[in-house]
Amino acid sequence: MLAHFESERSNALANAYWNTLGLAVFTLMAMGFAHVLLRRKSELESARIAYRAATEEGVDGFYINRPLRDKDGRIYDYLVVDCNNRGAEIFKLQRHDLIGKTISDFYQGAVKEAAFARLQEALEKGVHESEVKVSERDRLDAEWINYKAVRSGDDLAVTIRDISENKAHLQELERRGNEDALTGLPNRHWIQNHLPSAIARAKESNTTIALLFVDIDGFKAVNDALGHTAGDELLKMIASRLKRTVRPHDHVVRLGGDEYVVLVEGAGRDEDVKRVAERALNVFKEGFHLASQNHTIGASIGISIYPRDGTDAETLLKNADIAMYAVKKEGKSNYQFYQHHFYEALKNRLNREIELRRAIELDEFEMYYQARVNIQDRSASSMEALVRWNHPTKGIISPIEFIPLAESTGLILPLGTLIIEKVCQQLSVWARAGKSIVPVSINVSPRQFNESNMLDVFTSALTRYSIEPEWVQIEITESMMMQETGHDVNVLTSLRDVGIKLCLDDFGTGYSSLSQLQELDLDVLKIDRAFTATIENEEGKVLVTAMIMMAHALGMLVVAEGVESENQMKILHELNCDEAQGYYISRPLPAHQAQLLFS
Ligand code: C2E
Ligand code: MG
Ligand code: MG
Repeated sequence: MLAHFESERSNALANAYWNTLGLAVFTLMAMGFAHVLLRRKSELESARIAYRAATEEGVDGFYINRPLRDKDGRIYDYLVVDCNNRGAEIFKLQRHDLIGKTISDFYQGAVKEAAFARLQEALEKGVHESEVKVSERDRLDAEWINYKAVRSGDDLAVTIRDISENKAHLQELERRGNEDALTGLPNRHWIQNHLPSAIARAKESNTTIALLFVDIDGFKAVNDALGHTAGDELLKMIASRLKRTVRPHDHVVRLGGDEYVVLVEGAGRDEDVKRVAERALNVFKEGFHLASQNHTIGASIGISIYPRDGTDAETLLKNADIAMYAVKKEGKSNYQFYQHHFYEALKNRLNREIELRRAIELDEFEMYYQARVNIQDRSASSMEALVRWNHPTKGIISPIEFIPLAESTGLILPLGTLIIEKVCQQLSVWARAGKSIVPVSINVSPRQFNESNMLDVFTSALTRYSIEPEWVQIEITESMMMQETGHDVNVLTSLRDVGIKLCLDDFGTGYSSLSQLQELDLDVLKIDRAFTATIENEEGKVLVTAMIMMAHALGMLVVAEGVESENQMKILHELNCDEAQGYYISRPLPAHQAQLLFS
């Protein structure tokens, strides 16, 4: 009878036993968890205290902010749970003024929203860091702060660092990067950054922009003649004068060297831009007092207009530059609006320059020689070397076509050296072949004197080809003598000391004075063919007579250029002219033909 009861009982006991065991295990686990939690909490608290103690001495403001949530879990504010002294100080407060307050107690509107957004991001992503420009309403004792919030449990650890000084330093660096050190004007870097936004604004408001590219005429000459200090002084004077002529919101930029840009936003019609250009040109009319002298210096101005001449910064600058260049070509000291054909002309010129450069590399040049004769006995006295370009497709090109381009591009330097080389080589060929030698005169451009060491170039060629200095003469034009600077005179003197004779070419075209001629001490005077052409009438004869007498008085030998008839030869003989050169005697000829005249 009890068997049923016994089995029920032992089942119940077994159940009770397992239940009690389960409960005990659960209780133990719960106790364990509670202990861990408690320890965590006190650990967090001590960590917070330790952190604040550590940060108390620091320069950073430190805060613990706790999100306050409504019953739906939405955050409606942040409580400042803790902060260090520095943290309160940044807000010009005491710690106890801050702790226990919420962000809404201090901030409203946009400032509050920005603060909430930063903290919200830290809660979501674990961290938020940004540099914040402090506004009036931020109540902070700093201009720029670095703001960093890190999620720590449910709280946010916020550090604020005052980076105002750093920022000021960076801004200063940036300003300097945008500023031309000499004049204090904005520089090329600045305009490249500024122009795109100016263009965007003009597009938006349907207005125009004018770019005036201002380039000083003959700045290099001033710099060379008066020295760099005076050059710098001039650049500064021009900068401040330009600045004074434009409206306050227009910009004057120094692109570098002697180039400025006046940037006019909201430029209006061409008529208005013209007035700006005229005012800018007037800046130069006053003259400049430099190195205790007054100097007249002009400028060339090229203008491009947005949107007509370009819709991006690069094109506008380029086209203003091209227009400026066109002004230079047309005689300087003026202004021009950009026109498309300027671009074509420039491209053309650029192509010709490339072609000439290539021709120099490949040496497509040949020297022709034109005889000079003694008028008394008609014997050949010397020759002039005249360069020709043997173009592969265009045939022989006259120097009138490419010497000016070579001079303005600087290609005259390698070309000039090549010419001296070729003449010396030819002389050595003639000498070795036992031919009779007469002196050969070589035309030298002003730039060669200014920019390469002529004494070295000549003496080294003479040595290499074993040539006597008396075999070579140098022709310099009268206009070059007019722009003589002290340096060149020394070079001329030292060339003469070596034994190389100097000829003054194209005399009569450069208006040099008697005293200048006297000073320079040259050997030969070549009367320009424009005067030779007039000796058959009385007035012309009088003039040429005067030239010959003057040259003789200075101890110079006189050559008449461009003699084309027997009659001219006779008159020159009467006038006591020493030598003649011209088509009547011989045209310029290739080396082997020219040599025949002397053998
Ligand atoms: P230039 O030095 O005055 O040379 C004289 C020019 O007058 C030469 O022209 C010559 O061919 C030309 N000519 C000579 N006799 C007569 C004549 O009876 N009637 C006329 N109508 N013309 C005559 P080309 O060879 O065309 O040279 C022109 C200019 O190019 C030269 O004038 C010179 O300034 C320059 N040039 C020529 N070769 C060189 C050179 O090797 N280097 C440099 N830097 N310039 C050169
Ligand atoms: Mg000549
Ligand atoms: Mg000449």
